[in-house]
Amino acid sequence: MKAYKIIFSGIVQGVGFRPFIYRIAVKSGVRGYVRNLGGSEVEVKIVGKEENIAEFMSLFFLKLPSPAKIEKIIVEDSEIENFKEFQILKSGSTIKEVGEIPPDLSVCDECMKEVLNEKDRHYMYPFNSCAYCGPKFSIIYKLPYDRENTSMKDFPMCSSCQKEYEDPENERRFDAQGISCPICGPKLFLEDIKGERIEGDPIALTAKLIEEGKIVAIKGIGGFHIAIDPFNDDVIIRLRERKKRPQQPFALMAISTDVIKKYAEVSEIEEEILRSPERPILLLKKRESISKYISPGLDRDGFFLYYTPLHYLLLNSLKNKISVMTSGNIHGLPMCIDEECVKDKLKDVVDYVLYHNRKIVHRVDDSVMRISSRRIIMLRRSRGFAPTWIRIKKKVEPTIALGAELQNTGAIAFDDKVILTPYVGDTDKLENLEEMENSIRFLLNTYSIKPKYVIADKNPAYQSLRLAKKFSEEFSAEFYQVQHHFAHGLSVAAEKGVDEGVIIAIDGIGYGDDGNGWGGEIIKFEGSKYSREYHLRYVNYAGGDINAKKPDRMLALFLSNFLSWEEIKKHVKLSEKEIKILEMQSKKSSLYTSSVGRFLDAVSAFLDVCHERTYEGEPAIKLEAMKGRILDFDFPIKGEEIDTIEAFKWFLNNNLRKEDIATTLQYKLGEALVNAAERLNPERILVSGGASVNEYILKGILDNAKAEVLTLSKVPPGDGGISLGQSYFKVL
Ligand SMILES: [Zn+2]
Ligand SMILES: [Zn+2]
Repeated sequence: MKAYKIIFSGIVQGVGFRPFIYRIAVKSGVRGYVRNLGGSEVEVKIVGKEENIAEFMSLFFLKLPSPAKIEKIIVEDSEIENFKEFQILKSGSTIKEVGEIPPDLSVCDECMKEVLNEKDRHYMYPFNSCAYCGPKFSIIYKLPYDRENTSMKDFPMCSSCQKEYEDPENERRFDAQGISCPICGPKLFLEDIKGERIEGDPIALTAKLIEEGKIVAIKGIGGFHIAIDPFNDDVIIRLRERKKRPQQPFALMAISTDVIKKYAEVSEIEEEILRSPERPILLLKKRESISKYISPGLDRDGFFLYYTPLHYLLLNSLKNKISVMTSGNIHGLPMCIDEECVKDKLKDVVDYVLYHNRKIVHRVDDSVMRISSRRIIMLRRSRGFAPTWIRIKKKVEPTIALGAELQNTGAIAFDDKVILTPYVGDTDKLENLEEMENSIRFLLNTYSIKPKYVIADKNPAYQSLRLAKKFSEEFSAEFYQVQHHFAHGLSVAAEKGVDEGVIIAIDGIGYGDDGNGWGGEIIKFEGSKYSREYHLRYVNYAGGDINAKKPDRMLALFLSNFLSWEEIKKHVKLSEKEIKILEMQSKKSSLYTSSVGRFLDAVSAFLDVCHERTYEGEPAIKLEAMKGRILDFDFPIKGEEIDTIEAFKWFLNNNLRKEDIATTLQYKLGEALVNAAERLNPERILVSGGASVNEYILKGILDNAKAEVLTLSKVPPGDGGISLGQSYFKVL
């Protein structure tokens, strides 16, 4: 006989871990117990013959349910006690540390089998779930994760569900907090936008409406989507007009990867990402365009698989098994999470509303990923990932980080953990700033954190800065501001556990230490000390932020370095009056920018790719979509500047194909950035910032780097990852 005490840590609560341990213990014939220790730990004691214990361990590694994530296993010899059986012990009240909040996961295959099985009591049930799947974070009011602390408290279990809930032999439903069935669970309703109830099967009727060209809001896990028929140009155009989103790509939800493969190229790794329980939207290379209005001017579409039985049943009722599923919001504002919001904010956008009566407690947008130069990149980290812990290698004092401003996330950090809020959106809008505040407060309360530090960006115009000051006063916490691009680099440092190196931080505009708009920076750092070593050549940034919306203004400002304003007129799409104003502004302005984003904007205007930015990054994304060759051109490095002006002289003086200009400049810019970084003889180069997701820039960097190149995989390289970098600042 042998006895061991085993401590498992990781995501082991709310995911059926203890019943799993119970089952494999019974199967392998060991005795003892399993119990929650709180935090992220579960304790197991096993007593048995050596071969039984060996079987227990091998079953453990073979059968571990996928939502459980084990980070550490500690095994100790223990005294042999005389247990009669194996038991799941009630978690004691001694638990102090709060565990990890489980994220929302896609419906699992087992649950879908039940939904499609006529004989099962969950047949056709749109809300079927088990311990391994379904909404979790989005329905939690507070921890511990018990049914009465979730919005499932409105749905007391029927006797059949209760029986499964109490049966430790029941693999997927024992102690599973969110379970329900057609008898006891949430219900679906279909109404027109005026509130008139439509009687009949809500899912079949919704499918019919979509195929008739109607626009339908659909309540999901973390908010509302807007669904339309992706093959119907008229309805896509109508939705674009109503949402005032003339160009922004719409995501497509499909019933299977086979359906997606009809329209996009899907590699093995991409298929794996699509099918993962997090079910992110994945940007995939187009094969065949469904409609040219889905993602105008782009070479990729965003696809994702159904992630609730409701989605599955709806898609299955559609002839083509695929639907536009774009987020149910007004441009720039948070996605609606209740029917009242839809009927108010979206009354001029949607025709019908399909909703259910389970409350969404936390708004959780869809996550978005892509693969760039063979690296997996997170573009938006939300459903499936938030608010799981990101472990860092060092201990951090309790910290709040407020990120930047656009596509923002906040974070709290303590011990060796950083917890990012779900994607919040642009915090220059009051509604989003409130969302940020609520998310941070929820995390502070959940983990009983009193912050010692509050960290914000240096930009004095950011609204997130005001919130940071408010938190700092409220908690008497020390207040720090971290330069935008240094924070971008620190997010890589935090994820990879390094504390020195050379950063390539490339993006739109971040507030520089000299007050200028930085965005193409080579920064050397050691701990919390950093120095800006190289940057893109400064160009006049007269007028400031308005240039980001008007790529032709940027083009004119670049050209004004070597052309007269008379000559500039021939190359830009600006009115006589606009040019006059810009000329005057530029003569008075003392504001400069070194932004990669603004450089790409100017090139994009010159190549007639984009003259008005209607969504974040549009000109650069459309430039990236052009497929050209890499020609012979190099950006000169003069002093501490990478000279971007030379690029304009180069293509003005040569008769070149547009596609070749686009591809060459992106690739060669990556090469120039890494060449500058290599002059500092770094061991490693940390690449971050919104522009670093660009396929060609990243390839230019990777192809030409001698040092190890580190990029982010857990958080977005764009501003959605800044809060991680800020959280790491006081660690160094
Ligand atoms: Zn399930
Ligand atoms: Zn039930």
